[in-house]
Amino acid sequence: MGERVLPAPGDGPKEFEVRWEGKSLSVPAGSTFLDVKDGFGWDDGVLMVQVDCEMGRSSMELMEEIKWNCSVTPLGFESEEAREALRHTASHILAQAVKRLFPKTRLGIGPAIEDGFYYDFDTEHGFVSDDLAVIEAEMARIIKENLPVCREVMSREEARALFEQMQEPFKLEILEEIPEDEPVSIYRQGEFVDLCAGPHVPSTGYVKTYKLLSIAGAYWRGDENRTMLQRIYGTAFMNQQDLEAHLARLEDIKRRDHRKLGKDLDLFSIEEEAGPGLVFWHPKGAVIREVIEDFWKKEHRKRGYDLVYTPHIAKLDIWKTSGHWDWYKENMYSPIIVDEVQYLLKPMNCPFHILLYKNSTRSYRDLPIKYAELGTVYRYERSGVLHGMLRVRGMTQDDAHLFCRPDQLEEQLIGVLDLTEFMLKTFGYNDYECMLSVRDPNNKAKYIGTDDVWEQAESALENALKAKNLRYKVDIGEAKFYGPAIDIKTRDAVGRLWQGPTIQADFNLPERFDIAYIGEDGRSYRPVVIHRTVLGTMERFIGGLIEQYAGAFPLWLAPVQVRVMPISDKQMDYAHEITLRLKDAGLRAECDSGQDKVGYKIRRAQLEKIPYMIVVGQKEKDDGSISLRHRSLGVLGMMSLDEFLKRANEEIDAKALESLFTCSDR
Ligand SMILES: [Zn+2]
Ligand SMILES: [Zn+2]
Repeated sequence: MGERVLPAPGDGPKEFEVRWEGKSLSVPAGSTFLDVKDGFGWDDGVLMVQVDCEMGRSSMELMEEIKWNCSVTPLGFESEEAREALRHTASHILAQAVKRLFPKTRLGIGPAIEDGFYYDFDTEHGFVSDDLAVIEAEMARIIKENLPVCREVMSREEARALFEQMQEPFKLEILEEIPEDEPVSIYRQGEFVDLCAGPHVPSTGYVKTYKLLSIAGAYWRGDENRTMLQRIYGTAFMNQQDLEAHLARLEDIKRRDHRKLGKDLDLFSIEEEAGPGLVFWHPKGAVIREVIEDFWKKEHRKRGYDLVYTPHIAKLDIWKTSGHWDWYKENMYSPIIVDEVQYLLKPMNCPFHILLYKNSTRSYRDLPIKYAELGTVYRYERSGVLHGMLRVRGMTQDDAHLFCRPDQLEEQLIGVLDLTEFMLKTFGYNDYECMLSVRDPNNKAKYIGTDDVWEQAESALENALKAKNLRYKVDIGEAKFYGPAIDIKTRDAVGRLWQGPTIQADFNLPERFDIAYIGEDGRSYRPVVIHRTVLGTMERFIGGLIEQYAGAFPLWLAPVQVRVMPISDKQMDYAHEITLRLKDAGLRAECDSGQDKVGYKIRRAQLEKIPYMIVVGQKEKDDGSISLRHRSLGVLGMMSLDEFLKRANEEIDAKALESLFTCSDR
C-alpha cells in the first residue's frame, strides 16, 4: 500500500493541499482520501485514487491517510487496480457470508482474478449450487450494512495470536511465509477479519452488482498432497447491464466448450481406460485433422520445407547430449529398457532432426535446410492440469527445424513469421499478440549457453519482428532453457488469448551435437537452428478451433459437408444418385435415408452443424434439381446440382470462413 511506496515526512505540516483538475482543497492532517472524494464531489464510481506528489506516483485506497501535498486522479472500474480492489472486497464479503452461515469454515485464499474473484474454503459442508443463492442473500445483507473496510498493520506475533485464536491454520501458514521485512496487514469489515495485503474499497456498500458463478475443488496451494478445498467463484461489476453482458459471454464460452462439442459432434474422446491426457480421434475429428494436415504439408512444400518422419523413441544418451535429460526430465516419461539399453519417449523432435542433418556433410550452398514433421511427442503433465484436448500428455506437433547460416537467420525468421501469419489468417485468427520471450538476466543458471550466444539470438528475433512491423512485448524470464523465442498468442472469437505459434533461435543444440557446414573457404562452420511450430499441436489447435467456430466448421474443414435428404421413399433413388455425384465431385456427402420426416432430418443436420443440406422431393426429382439449405442462412432455394457443385467448390478452394451463398440467393 501507499505508505510502503511513499514514506511520510516526520512531524509534518498541520494541513495538506490536494489538487484535482485545477481545483484545490486544503485538508487537515489526519484526513483521508474519502474526505477528498466528498470535497471534490466524486461519486461512488470512484474506487481508488492515483496520487502524485514529490515522492512519486502511487495508487492508493480511499481510506488511506493523506500525508503529502499532492495531486490526485480518481480511479474507477476501468482501472485494473481499482477493479481488482472492488472484486477483492467482494471476495471478502463472500467469505464473511460463508463464515456467518457456516461458522466452522476455515479460510484459504480469496483473490481477485481476471473477470471476477474466488474464495477457497475448508468446510465439512459440501457446497451445492443451491447454496449459492443463500450465500448471495447473506452477501446482500453485508452490503446493506455498509461495513467500513479497515486496514491494520500489526506485528507478526500479534497476527499469529489473532489467527490462532480464530483457528485459521491456512492463514497461519501464509503468515509464516510473509518476508520478515514486509509489514503484516489485516483487513476488518464488521466481525470479519482477513490476513490480506489489500487494496480494498472503503466499505462493503461499494459492491453494487455481484454474482456467484460456480463451485470447484481446489487443492490448498495447488498441491495434490494437501487438503482439497472448495472454491466458490464469483464476479462483481458496477451495474447490472455490464454483469449481464458478462454472464452472456460466459454462456457463449460454455456453449463453445470443446469437450462438450467434441462429444456432441462425435469428434474425439479421452478414454480413461487408456490413460489420462491421451486423445482418441473419432472418424469425424480425424477428417478435420487430415484436411488440416494435408493443407499444412502442401503449404510447407511450397515454402521449401522437406517433410520427414522420425522415430518415437531414442536412446537416453541422445537426450543427455541435447540437454533434455538434465533440463526437461520432469516432463519426460521414464526410460524403457530394451536389450539393456535405456530409451526415452520423445518429448520433442529436435534431436532427431539434428541427427538427420548430421547424416551427411553439408555445404554452405545447401543451407537453409528446413525439416518439417508432424511429430508425435509425449510429455508428462500433472493430472490436475489436463484439460480436454488443450492440455494433454500425447500430442502431435507441427514441428520444423531450419538449419541456416548465421547470415541467413533473420531472413529465415521473417519467412517463418510470414508462414505463421498466413496460417493464422486462414483459420480466421486475425488478432494476435507477439511476445519476445527472453532470458532473465538475473537468473542465468536456469539457461544453457553463453551470454553472447543469447544476445545474438535475442537480437535476431527482435530484428525479425521489427522487419515484419509486428508490435510485440518483451517477456523477461519466459525463454526456454535453450534459447529465446517469439511466442504468439491468438485472440479467439470470444476475445480469449490462446497460446499459438512459437519460434526459437538456437545456437546451443548445434554446439552440443557438434553439427557443421563447409563454408566457401573450405572451413567448417556452425549452423544456427530455428525451432518453430505454427499451429502448436494438432490437439490444442483443433480443440481451440472447435471453440473458435463453436463446432460449426467452415465448409473446407467440415467432417460432413453436405447431407442429402429425400422427402419420401419415392425420391430415395434420386437422393442416392445426387449423393454419389457429390462424392464423385470430391465432396464429403452422405444421404439420410431414414424414415424420419424431413423436418426432423433437417433438425438433426442442424445439430450436427453440417454446412449444406440438400432436400429432394418429387418436384426436384421431376426437374432434376435440388433444394438447398444452409445451417445458418436457412433456405437458399432450388438450383441445379451443377450450380451448387461449382459454388461449393469455390468455397472450399477459397477456404472461406463463411458461406459464399447469400440470403439473396433465395
Ligand atoms: Zn484479501
Ligand atoms: Zn525443436
